[in-house]
Amino acid sequence: MPSTVAIDYEVAVIGAGPYGLSAAAQLKASGISTRVFGDPMSFWERHMPVGMFLRSNWTATQIADPNRLLTLEAYQAATGNYLPAGSGTSSRPVPLDSFIQYGRWYQREAVPDLDQRKVARVETNGEGFRITIEDRDVVRARRVVVAVGIAAFAWRPPEFEGLPRWLASHTSEHRDFRKFSGRRVLVIGGGQSALESAALLHESGAETEVAARSSTIHWLHGWASRTLHHNLGPIVRKVLYAPTDVGPAGISQLMARPDLLRRLPRWLQDRLRERAVRPAGASWLVNRLRDVPIRLGRRVICVETSGEGLKVRLDDRSERFVDHVLLGTGYRMDISKYDFIAPELLRSIRCFNGYPCLQEGLETSVPGLHILGAPAAWSFGPLMQFVSGTHYASRTLTRRIVEDGGQ
Ligand SMILES: Cc1cc2nc3c(=O)[nH]c(=O)nc-3n(C[C@H](O)[C@H](O)[C@H](O)COP(=O)(O)OP(=O)(O)OC[C@H]3O[C@@H](n4cnc5c(N)ncnc54)[C@H](O)[C@@H]3O)c2cc1C
Repeated sequence: MPSTVAIDYEVAVIGAGPYGLSAAAQLKASGISTRVFGDPMSFWERHMPVGMFLRSNWTATQIADPNRLLTLEAYQAATGNYLPAGSGTSSRPVPLDSFIQYGRWYQREAVPDLDQRKVARVETNGEGFRITIEDRDVVRARRVVVAVGIAAFAWRPPEFEGLPRWLASHTSEHRDFRKFSGRRVLVIGGGQSALESAALLHESGAETEVAARSSTIHWLHGWASRTLHHNLGPIVRKVLYAPTDVGPAGISQLMARPDLLRRLPRWLQDRLRERAVRPAGASWLVNRLRDVPIRLGRRVICVETSGEGLKVRLDDRSERFVDHVLLGTGYRMDISKYDFIAPELLRSIRCFNGYPCLQEGLETSVPGLHILGAPAAWSFGPLMQFVSGTHYASRTLTRRIVEDGGQ
């Protein structure tokens, strides 16, 4: 006789960032018994620097909720914490701290019963999953939704691998750059994270230089884009740009429709994705970086310790003696780094280049196991890397579970 295992919840959501919270809100609104684990907005609070601004615009910074009651506007009205006038525009971006406060308010409203403990293990268990919490408590759920973000994927290029963190660190390891005041820091990378970190370091009194492999920095909302916007008028602008704010004119509309994007040939999806999320800096960084030297088209070929600091050789044979190298080298997806997923379960998830291959409802090849957020980008496009993807993800996930008879 097959053993039947009691189920505590229909769904366990692991993660309390924008994806986990919005999925939980939608599932609960559909009457599905859901348990949510995670420290609310912890990635934004612990792995992004004080003084940072969001790159996405106002509409793309709204965390999805089923009744559109938990918007940034509603947050301001309910709490009296008004964001600076004009926030979310290309001239006045949303401050990081305001977004964290908004996310926390969203959590209190939509998921007041959040369990802030960490999940230590997920394994299959009869008809569902056995979830072991850090203090060894166990919960059983028919489905698991993994929404734990990208913190595990911070990329350190191999040439920096053997160096101690106090000499070479990733941007995600810092909350406050003021500790670098008066020190020489070389920032590696040409995307938003590298450039904004360089601006913050410079403003904190560090002697800052940037080295990037690309031969040019792509500035968002630069001259060409502003001219196009200005000449288009609101209607044509709406036709070319989706409110999700991912990708340039035209491509933006396709990125906003993952179900359509998925039908295109793989090579075309990859080309569009590359174009939509190529490394780029927000236009409001241009002035802040005016006095920071930026070396373009340069690779690091050798790094070694030298006295208390580092000697870095670039491929033009020039050398730098610095106190610290800051790696603005982004994130590389590899879900095997989600160390709470049991090895046997991990082996059953069909993957490509570290990304899970997902089906409708963001479900992995293991029935009942879903992965949301950036790892879903290979299957559902780059929208999944941004807060604005929570609208699509939470709806498609819930639809899948409801159609399957979830209670
Ligand atoms: C510097 C930087 C700037 C960015 N700016 C923008 C921007 O302007 N706009 C935008 O849309 N996106 C931006 N992003 C991307 C942003 O990170 C994602 O959009 C967003 O964080 C995705 O949310 P998430 O819910 O998938 O993950 P996260 O926000 O990372 O949330 C992960 C959650 O999982 C929890 N967790 C992790 N492990 C466990 C575990 N074992 N058990 C329980 N809980 C766990 C954490 O506590 C946390 O609650 C930026 C990223 C970076 C690095």
